[in-house]
Amino acid sequence: MKCIVIFGIQGSGKGTQADLLSEELGYQHINIGNLLREQVAMQTELGLMVKETIGRGALVSDELVFQVVESTLEPGCPGIVFDGFPRNLHQSEYLARHYEILGAFYLDLDEQEAIARISARRECSECGKNYNLKTNKPIHEDVCDSCGGRLKIRKDDRPEAIKKRLVEFYEHTLILKQFFAEQGLLTVIDAGGDIEDISKEILIKAKTLV
Ligand SMILES: [Zn+2]
Repeated sequence: MKCIVIFGIQGSGKGTQADLLSEELGYQHINIGNLLREQVAMQTELGLMVKETIGRGALVSDELVFQVVESTLEPGCPGIVFDGFPRNLHQSEYLARHYEILGAFYLDLDEQEAIARISARRECSECGKNYNLKTNKPIHEDVCDSCGGRLKIRKDDRPEAIKKRLVEFYEHTLILKQFFAEQGLLTVIDAGGDIEDISKEILIKAKTLV
């Protein structure tokens, strides 16, 4: 199975870019965070294992992540865009053994800018619609345009949670730059610019890979 990896610091826009790229290429977009939440919500066998692990306050093991990824592959799909996976060296080695990695895009963003972007995220407490106070403001402050619900900060986006995710990124994920570079697979993209420009840049390069 062919795949493309998009990785970068939280707030670098990898979810958005993975979404746009997978649509252009006709690939399946796999976001591990969403995938794990979905499995838990559907109460699948894997989901129950994930829930039990998180309930213990432990990290979901790489093996469990692999199983969840395998279980979600759409038959006949020409390829996958991974977002949020691999997250560490062990997962990258697994990926290299089981998939044909066409390329890896690193979305490069300054830490201060990343924190500013994440801190500006808001979610409607009623309908779940997402906003960003910098790039996608509601018409009235703290009120959802669609349903009038109150906007809140997601648990994941609170300063303490952001700090934890950044530490995790620097400790385990940043090293993937080197891993992919050694295999001639790495493309570094400046993620500080406009979403559309970044998307174009990724697509042009990706088309030379597939
Ligand atoms: Zn709403």
